Amino acid sequence: MSHKVLGIDIGTNSLGWALLDDEEGRIIATGVRVFPEGVDRTQTGGEVSKNETRRTARGTRRQTRRRRERKQAVRNALIKARLFPKDPEQIEALLQLDPYELRKKGLTKKLELFEFARVLYALSQRRGYKSNSKTDRKDQKETEGLLAEINQLQSEIEEHKHKTLGEHFAEELKAGTPVRGRHTLRAMYLQEFELLWKTQSKYHSKILTEKLKKQLNNPDETENWVHKGLIYGQRKMYWKKSTIGKCELEPKEIRCEKSDRLAQQFRLYQEVNNLRLIESGTERTLSPEERETLLDYLSSAKERTFDQIRKKLDLYQSAKFNLEAGDRSKLLGMPVDALLAHKAIFTKKWHQRPDQEKTEIVRFILDHDDTPELIRDKAINEWGLDEEATEALLRLDLTEGRANYSRKAIEKLLPYIKQGLPLSARDDTDNALHKAGYSRADQRSRSKTNRLPVPPDIPNPIVKQALHEVRKLVNSLIDEFGIPDAIHIEMARSVSGSADQRLQTTIKMRERERERDAAANYLRQEGFQVTRNNIDRYLLWKEQGEHCAYCDKNFSPRMIFDSNSEIEIDHILPRSRSLDNSWMNKVVCCRKCNSEKAKQTPLEWLPKISQERYDSVLQSAARLPYPKRQRFSQKLEGLEDFIERNLVDTGYIASEVRKYISRLNTDVICTKGQLTSIYRRYWELNNILHDDGLNIKNRDDHRHHAIDAIVVALMNRSNLQKLSGFWKQTRQAHLKQPWKNFRSEIEAAVNSINVSHRTRRKISGALHEETIFGATQESATTYVRRKPVSSINNTSQVEKIRDPQIRKLVKDYLKQHGIDPDSKSQKINEKIWADGVYMPSGVPVKKVRMLEESSGMLEIRPNQFTAPGSNHHIEIFELLDKAGNPILNKDGSPKRKSEIITMFDAAQLAKTKRPLINRNHGPNTRFVISLSINEMILLDIGRNEPVLHRVQKLTKKEIILRPHTYAGQVKDTDKPPIIQRRSPNTLKGQKVTVDRLGRIRWAND
Ligand SMILES: [Zn+2]
Repeated sequence: MSHKVLGIDIGTNSLGWALLDDEEGRIIATGVRVFPEGVDRTQTGGEVSKNETRRTARGTRRQTRRRRERKQAVRNALIKARLFPKDPEQIEALLQLDPYELRKKGLTKKLELFEFARVLYALSQRRGYKSNSKTDRKDQKETEGLLAEINQLQSEIEEHKHKTLGEHFAEELKAGTPVRGRHTLRAMYLQEFELLWKTQSKYHSKILTEKLKKQLNNPDETENWVHKGLIYGQRKMYWKKSTIGKCELEPKEIRCEKSDRLAQQFRLYQEVNNLRLIESGTERTLSPEERETLLDYLSSAKERTFDQIRKKLDLYQSAKFNLEAGDRSKLLGMPVDALLAHKAIFTKKWHQRPDQEKTEIVRFILDHDDTPELIRDKAINEWGLDEEATEALLRLDLTEGRANYSRKAIEKLLPYIKQGLPLSARDDTDNALHKAGYSRADQRSRSKTNRLPVPPDIPNPIVKQALHEVRKLVNSLIDEFGIPDAIHIEMARSVSGSADQRLQTTIKMRERERERDAAANYLRQEGFQVTRNNIDRYLLWKEQGEHCAYCDKNFSPRMIFDSNSEIEIDHILPRSRSLDNSWMNKVVCCRKCNSEKAKQTPLEWLPKISQERYDSVLQSAARLPYPKRQRFSQKLEGLEDFIERNLVDTGYIASEVRKYISRLNTDVICTKGQLTSIYRRYWELNNILHDDGLNIKNRDDHRHHAIDAIVVALMNRSNLQKLSGFWKQTRQAHLKQPWKNFRSEIEAAVNSINVSHRTRRKISGALHEETIFGATQESATTYVRRKPVSSINNTSQVEKIRDPQIRKLVKDYLKQHGIDPDSKSQKINEKIWADGVYMPSGVPVKKVRMLEESSGMLEIRPNQFTAPGSNHHIEIFELLDKAGNPILNKDGSPKRKSEIITMFDAAQLAKTKRPLINRNHGPNTRFVISLSINEMILLDIGRNEPVLHRVQKLTKKEIILRPHTYAGQVKDTDKPPIIQRRSPNTLKGQKVTVDRLGRIRWAND
């Protein structure tokens, strides 16, 4: 018999994989694929989606581009209307005129046509702020500050009885007050334009026609424009519906907004249907009355905490809900109703409106998010809101993403969910999907294919990236070995979960590390042995208040840490029956208690001895974290259930991944990964990686992912049974290995892996550094660019801020935050900027202009410069003499030269469709090799055999290489045996490619 299982271990930037035959007992193939993570990292380890980084940079560039295009279009229109000269020199002269003075004069006196042209051109350069409800809501605080500043300006204008902004600025300038950079309102410019046009068209009626005016400024709204005209034109912003994922039940429909009332009801009823109550160890569903009460209670609020729910349902404080695990402290109600029932909008009367009406109002708001006028009209004329309430309504942001299904599907499903039916069932028992005429997820997706299709749109950039790699890997494996009989998947905790959860995990891990360090310090100081076991004991002991978990005996430090200690670590739920080896299942207790307890749970053991003792144990357990405390009163299910739990990760991401992989006609399991490290230890796989004399620690070696994948492939019922049996026996040295010679086979397989690294082929994207520099008057090598304040990470940069006023603001801010801005070079943590730097007016300073010295800037557009950016590849060639023979170095090796091609160069080549690699470096040269980042080379490092290396970095002077297995950082250069530095002259090796499955081929260079 043969049974092929593919195990995949998914990490944030790697896939370990192993194809085994668990019937015949052999490893068919195994490997590791490394790829770039799906998110960018901030300094503090936070995540920024790559798209977001790109989007922001693109947004700014787009804005700059549009402004330039607008000026160009206005200029052309004015030339055509013969207001503007054609001759560049005349244009130059025209632009020397002071526009402010002309804007003032033009209100009452005749301007020459070219003067008016200067004015119009100036008006097209700065257009003032125009409110956009969507973006305003996102940055409300910022918008408020901005509007406050504009209000201030408006009252200044009124105070001085100036007719327009232009007149006001002209007077300010005369008085020596700078006006550049002040925030203005679009409406101010529109008013000024109208007044100026009115006056000037009287003097130049033949040229300043109504037609030209409309061409420049036309307040008419059309399908795509809010406001037309070359100067003040404004495109409508709209969300491309096609970019929203489609419903899996109704493939033609887009998924419903989460804020839609139907979607909220759907979620609310589903949660209540899934809610179970745990009272004194037994689990039950809600009674019909309790369910009714709870539904009512939740429907009228944004959310209710579990404590509130217990009170409402008249339950004991000790009663717990199944959904209450972990950090979860509440159930959501109807957040959208709660928002609209706010006293500033619809008030509590909202709740009295008919359901249908409420749903329609919410939908209208969601559907007309980009046209607030329409919402305003409805609100006042149909929904009975006054002006003020309407404004409050328009400030609301209801958008919060999409539900899983479309409105259509939810409408069909909701009646059954309301009846209390589960959404789906594993078998044919009544469920909503079935009743509504849909097939089950697993049945549905079994429109089976022989290859994995494009992965679904999962709202987690790391998983998304990983799944694209999984798809290519699995398809390559199918081509080579056919479809496996089963696929087992395990995701690192750093992969699944939301960005926020992942951050929480990181924080908790760091906290844990700190605790352990502190414990180790204590042990060292007190003269006890610092071992993993002792650190565990210390932490448990402290957590329990320094006494036994099952009796009131106090433990002194000596009792705990002595080598022949009477104190033992116990699993609250016996691990042979629960397979639970987690921290939350561990306590310290005295040997006597432990042997008395034997293979029982506290609930099975204590009450039959004495209820009183059980109660007092429960009482002292109350200080423990909830998951641990809860195990003291938990009733144990059968082992089968625990096995199932380890094999089925029920998390949202895991279920989505399983659904996706199940498109292949094979069994798919997403394991939970709690036991992987245990098997690794018991099967003695931890020291399997040869160090190759390269001094790579195991965790810095990519191949350990392959070992994990092998364990994942073997995660099955039979092996979990064996583990349980192993734990049942009191003393046993070895867990039996899955087959004979298991360990040595793995050792051979893993050590022969060639790690496959994804090469960086894309040139676009990283074309040049995201910032664009401008030239300055200061000097030919001084450039200026705008940078976020928060990117300033060293005091040495503060002096580079161009504007003295802003520079002072930043310095004052740093002083307030305990940093001396005048110290020469002090690091500034990104967190320092969290409070935000503000102008005295309250406007936040987000970006600053900074001066940079550079002699190697590239001009990409008139007055737009960019730093050359990183290097794309290096080309190495040999020098030949006239006879065509290589010129030799002193040591007899051929003399070589090289040329670096930057990303920018490469992009230029690609744009003009020229080959990226130039093999011809002139007469008397012979092309040797080209190398780019992540390309592989079998490098001669002075051993019998060359070792596979990866190009990690390219500089003008050297090529930096690392062994293919090295998983450490680029910057860790202090491990000399690992890092290989070569110059074109000293590089000896053969360039190769390593395909996705780790197979080596000669590269054709
Ligand atoms: Zn005890």
